Amino acid sequence: MYDLAVIGGGPGGYVAAILGAQAGLKTALIEKKALGGTCLNTGCIPTKCLYYDVQLYNNAKNSESLSGREGLELDLSALVYRKRRVVESLVGGVTSLLKSRKVDVYSGTGKLLKPGTIAVDEDSEAGGRTLEASSVILATGSKPAVPGFIHIDGEFVQTTDQALDSTRVPKKVVVIGGGVIGMEMANIYRKIDSNVTVVEMLPDILGTEDKDVRSIMAREVQNAGIALQLGASVQEISKDSGEVFIADQNGQREKINCDLVLVATGRAPVTTGIPASELGLKMEGPFIKVDGFQQTNLTGVYAIGDVAGGVMLAHKASAEAEVAVDHILGQKRTLDPCKIPRCIWGVAEVGAVGLSEEEAKEAGYSIKVGTFPLSANGAAQSMNSSVGMVKIIGEAETGEILGVHIIGPHATDLIAEAVTTMTMEGAVEDLYQAIKPHPTVSEAVMEAALDWNGLAIHKL
Ligand code: FAD
Repeated sequence: MYDLAVIGGGPGGYVAAILGAQAGLKTALIEKKALGGTCLNTGCIPTKCLYYDVQLYNNAKNSESLSGREGLELDLSALVYRKRRVVESLVGGVTSLLKSRKVDVYSGTGKLLKPGTIAVDEDSEAGGRTLEASSVILATGSKPAVPGFIHIDGEFVQTTDQALDSTRVPKKVVVIGGGVIGMEMANIYRKIDSNVTVVEMLPDILGTEDKDVRSIMAREVQNAGIALQLGASVQEISKDSGEVFIADQNGQREKINCDLVLVATGRAPVTTGIPASELGLKMEGPFIKVDGFQQTNLTGVYAIGDVAGGVMLAHKASAEAEVAVDHILGQKRTLDPCKIPRCIWGVAEVGAVGLSEEEAKEAGYSIKVGTFPLSANGAAQSMNSSVGMVKIIGEAETGEILGVHIIGPHATDLIAEAVTTMTMEGAVEDLYQAIKPHPTVSEAVMEAALDWNGLAIHKL
């Protein structure tokens, strides 16, 4: 009999198992494929390995200070090999962590038979065992959501599941979807010299981000030579002729030739092994319905991460693991969705938290906005990467930080400072009163906070 059984070993599930075991709970984890889940194996980490390598290649190729640039070549096999080594090392790390915490790991597909009882499939290494546990956490994650008329053949038409292992440089790629994953992949393809077109149904890419971030990103995307087809939908894909047929909002059709189609149309929750209607488990659309403590409607059954809906991000899954385990241990705390940072590693880096300017206004806040362009930041200039800005949205009277949006170098790291300040209920003033090291891009955060008060030093 276990105190806790977790189904799914991604950043939600394995973190929940470690936290449970650290708190003294006898813990089991069931994983059907690979520990680390989407994040370590086919998501966050693989994309970032590729991102940093193609960035290096591109910087070297375009550097005015390096000679011999003409002969520079990218070895895609070496790049994919390095990515695999990084993934192996991190998955190995998770395996060791679980072992050291004495978590019993079962390889196989877990099926929730009833609250507290999980069957591990017959064919698995765990050999058809049934596990009993006082509490169960469902952390089964997500998979690519592919429109019904699109067939993923793994060659001409791929999702990131195949693309991140490919050693082929496509000449022409059509990326379907201008969301985070689509724009990250478009950047990678463009930097390995593919011709890239992004087709997005909505009028803009990265629809959930602040308008100023979107407009800088759209400009940079176009400067990078990535074509955008906005307000357009894919109607048909022909592998034989190597064509993608798209239509605009007036039904005007156009075809794009390509040798690769990357489908990045979102992610769908994985509910294999969770027969919701049999169990009487309440769903919210395709996701498992949870309350603020990650509890489902079934006693002792929790759901976390992508399968529980909300923003589909690894750190959100891990944070929900903490909330669920805390609740099992009798402590009640909840997550504030407004304090979950969002990051994009695209043609430009983005780090954002909280409300966009439009959302803050819609929510009825009286706001003041402070901005600072990276063109006036010494560190960004030294890096030869001074496109971007920091934007801070604060409640006009109190200085409560409602949203911070950073686009430019190191944005994904810098946003952590804003998250920490917001978590500690600091105000905009706190973002400039804390001394920033020089020369760093963090000074732009300080300047944007000063600008919020009309006091920016290095801004005309
Ligand atoms: P998952 O990581 O999907 O893990 C679920 C696990 O459960 C899987 O290992 C699966 O095999 C297992 N499982 C499912 N059903 C069963 C069952 N019945 N029995 C046993 N095991 C089961 N997020 C970020 O924060 N930053 C990024 O940079 C980022 N980049 C991404 C890039 C790409 C290309 C993709 C696809 C995603 C990216 N994400 C990123 C999102 C991130 O990967 C997910 O939000 C995160 O992995 C969700 O964690 P999870 O634990 O909920 O699920």
